[in-house]
Amino acid sequence: MVITRTREELYKILEEFSKKPGKLALIPTMGNLHDGHLSLIKLAKLKASKTITTIFVNPLQFGKNEDFKKYPRTEKLDIEKLKKEHCDILFIPRNGEEVFSKTEKVTSLDSGSLGSELCGKIRPGHFNGVLTVVNRLFELINPDVAVFGAKDYQQQILIKKMAKSLHPQISLIKAPIIRSKNGVALSSRNNYLSEKELELAANLFKCLQNSVTSYQKREKLNEILDNANSFLVSKDLMPDYFELRDSELNIISKNNYIGKKIFLGSVTINNTRLIDNIEF
Ligand code: AMP
Repeated sequence: MVITRTREELYKILEEFSKKPGKLALIPTMGNLHDGHLSLIKLAKLKASKTITTIFVNPLQFGKNEDFKKYPRTEKLDIEKLKKEHCDILFIPRNGEEVFSKTEKVTSLDSGSLGSELCGKIRPGHFNGVLTVVNRLFELINPDVAVFGAKDYQQQILIKKMAKSLHPQISLIKAPIIRSKNGVALSSRNNYLSEKELELAANLFKCLQNSVTSYQKREKLNEILDNANSFLVSKDLMPDYFELRDSELNIISKNNYIGKKIFLGSVTINNTRLIDNIEF
């Protein structure tokens, strides 16, 4: 695996790789890699013969009181894991300047009304930061394929919309959610939780599963959502939201919707926010 920390070097490496046949797949991450991230690389390898992973803790997507400073940074371990997956290139910028240079104008993207709903309601500006950095990575790397996890469903929908207008040549792939044995969706933020809290966190997935079952039994949607919220609170998981939407994240208000749907939930446990969803 070739590792680069500067943009200049990145361009040279990409130039070299462009001479090799096949497609290039990009897997953007913030590091602290777990099996969820690695599943994205495995999937990328099925779709493209060359893979590039980026590790960049993007300051633009963190709010003032969020965990930018304490976000887990585990560079050495990440590199080992990427080597094992036979990732071809790692771009791990030595500083933010390598992504957003001071001498260039940053194209700040606006995530629109969907960007202020669900997670965006709790994290104002978060999705503008996400879109701005992903657009920048697309500009710098110009991959053929880019892979994003379904765990961050709203992020993946917003990126899909952004790419459709700004980078229509890039194929986006949605990777399924990887979970621990007890059902908790893997996340770097799970590191903030104790064993006991992780056990409680499994109830978010349980709640999503129960809600799908209730919906399929044609129970009333408002009752399903009320029950879900009460269940989460009873397990010490403070709900930020728990909703049913269609697969493009439009609001569904009745329980006779025919197309693909998704229950999405976000809970806070001991100051750590966890998100999860089930599409059905
Ligand atoms: P992050 O490092 O948290 O920004 O995540 C980088 C990418 O990995 C995003 O596309 C995430 O959706 C994806 N990802 C994170 N956790 C999981 C998981 N448990 N399963 C599948 N993909 C994941």
